[in-house]
Amino acid sequence: MRAPLHFDAIVIGAGAAGMFCAALAGQRGRRVLLIEHYRIVGEKIRISGGGRCNFTNLDAGPANFLSGNPEFCRSALARFMPRDFIAIVERHGIRWHEKKLGQLFCDGSSNQIIAMLRAECERAGVTWWQPCPVDGVTRDGEDFAVATPKGSENCACPDSPSRNPAVPAPAMVSTTGVQSPASARTRGSRAQRHHTIDASTIAITVAMASHLPAALMSAHSPSNEE
Ligand SMILES: Cc1cc2nc3c(=O)[nH]c(=O)nc-3n(C[C@H](O)[C@H](O)[C@H](O)COP(=O)(O)OP(=O)(O)OC[C@H]3O[C@@H](n4cnc5c(N)ncnc54)[C@H](O)[C@@H]3O)c2cc1C
Repeated sequence: MRAPLHFDAIVIGAGAAGMFCAALAGQRGRRVLLIEHYRIVGEKIRISGGGRCNFTNLDAGPANFLSGNPEFCRSALARFMPRDFIAIVERHGIRWHEKKLGQLFCDGSSNQIIAMLRAECERAGVTWWQPCPVDGVTRDGEDFAVATPKGSENCACPDSPSRNPAVPAPAMVSTTGVQSPASARTRGSRAQRHHTIDASTIAITVAMASHLPAALMSAHSPSNEE
C-alpha cells in the first residue's frame, strides 16, 4: 500500500500563472501539486512578445489591471513589484532589454522564461503531474478533492471502488487560462464543467476551503500553521 498523498495546495494548469504560483507557494514551505493536462508547458509564454516574452513592464501598476475588486490588485502588487520579477530573471542569468515605454523583453528567447519557471518549481520541490487530465473537482469536507487518473495510481487504498480517487488539499488554484489557441484544448474539460467559472473573463481562480488566499502564500512556519 502506498503512502497517502498530502498536499497543502493543488494548482491546475502549468502556464505562466500556474508555474509561478506553484513555485512561490512551494518556496514558502507549502507542499504543492501542479497538474497540467497537455504534454508541453508554457506554450503561450513561448509565443509571447514575438518569441522574446515581454515579461514585465517597469510601470505596471494597479490601474493597468481589470478587476472586480481593484483593492486586491493594489495589495497584491504592493507585495510583488516588477523589480521583484526582474530580480528572479537576473538570478537565472537571463539578459534583457527595455524596448519602449518600460516594456522588458528577453535578449534571447521566451524559452528562457519557461526554463526559469520550471527551475523555480523544481527548487521549490513542487510535484508535477503531466500530462494528466483533471476529471473533476469536488468538495470533501474542509478540503477540495481533485480527481485524476494519476490519483488512482498513487491511491493509498487499492480496494477503493472509485476509478479516479481524488487527491485532497485545503487549497486549490485554477490557472487554466483564457480564450486563446491553448484554451481550445481546455474548453469543455470536465474540470471546468464541474464549476460555473466563466473562462472568458477569469484567468485565475483561487479557492480556499478554510483558509484565506494569503494563507497559501504566507511564510510557512510552525507559528503560523493553521
Ligand atoms: C500571441 C501572444 C502574445 C503574447 N505576448 C505577451 C507578452 O509579450 N507579454 C505578456 O505579458 N503577455 C503576453 N501574452 C499573454 C500571455 O501569454 C498570457 O496572458 C499568459 O501566458 C497566460 O498565462 P496563464 O497561466 O494565465 O494561462 P495559459 O498559458 O493558458 O496556461 C493555462 C494552462 O492550463 C492548462 N490547462 C487548461 N485546462 C486544464 C485542465 N483541465 N487540467 C489541467 N491543465 C489545464 C493549459 O494546457 C495551459 O498549460 C501573449 C499572448 C499571446 C497569445
